[in-house]
Amino acid sequence: MVRRFLLPALLPLCLLLAACGGSGPTAPAATTGTASTTTAGGGKQVRAAAKRAGLRKLQRQALAYYAQQGRPIFCGGKKRYAALTFDDGPGPYTPLARKYLKKFGVEATFFLVGRNVQPYAIQARDEKRGGHALGDHSWSHPYLPNLSTAEITRQLGDTQAAIRQATGTQVQLFRPPYGAHDARVDAEAQRLGMAQILWNVDSRDSEGADYAEIARRVLDGIGPGAIVLMHENRGQTIRALWSRILPALKKRHIELVSVPHLLAVNPPSQQQLHAPGGGCSGITGQPGEG
Ligand SMILES: [Zn+2]
Repeated sequence: MVRRFLLPALLPLCLLLAACGGSGPTAPAATTGTASTTTAGGGKQVRAAAKRAGLRKLQRQALAYYAQQGRPIFCGGKKRYAALTFDDGPGPYTPLARKYLKKFGVEATFFLVGRNVQPYAIQARDEKRGGHALGDHSWSHPYLPNLSTAEITRQLGDTQAAIRQATGTQVQLFRPPYGAHDARVDAEAQRLGMAQILWNVDSRDSEGADYAEIARRVLDGIGPGAIVLMHENRGQTIRALWSRILPALKKRHIELVSVPHLLAVNPPSQQQLHAPGGGCSGITGQPGEG
């Protein structure tokens, strides 16, 4: 099982792999080929593959560590990495979200509602194939603290199983609907091996904000370590994404990564984990509807 000393051990490994400070897998793909036929180019490819494999291993270790910790995470650390997250899919807007994220070379995280997974199984698989992370967002999006413990178990476990069946992925991320959780929810997520991810920047898109307002809230709130809440099945959110958010963040040199990537290279400190609201000082935004 994961031991308490694991996280400190992650950092030297991270440095060894040069995964923390480099461009990471979200950077535009390396040039397509002119150097690939040379020995030097081949060496580069081998090193790049090793780096990606090392980063994936780091991500798995980080997720296992934070799942075992059993504390909700609101943001990462202070490096210039941040995470965009999209709730309530998959759905008809998934291909558009993927298209624009790919165009800008950005990894994201999708928290899926279990009952939507089978009807949109292809979209869920495409999210995974696109290099994005998947998470469990309950089966039917209830207010979990109002449910019995057995119902909470079904909501989380059935969704985890549906995502596994559709994508072959054992998800290790969980986000409670509306950000609403209690000790029973926390314990169930921990039992199922999922790190509980909330947010510290709320786009308020679920409240009907138009694309300009969504973009303003995200761009005003985001900073190093931020975890941003958005919803993929909203046209105004997609418009805000391609027309304002992604171009602006590219200029600010904030690297947008998946939540597992964020936890591997820019994790919250233990002090943050134990602080009210996740210790996300210096970044605006409050928990809201998820
Ligand atoms: Zn939601």
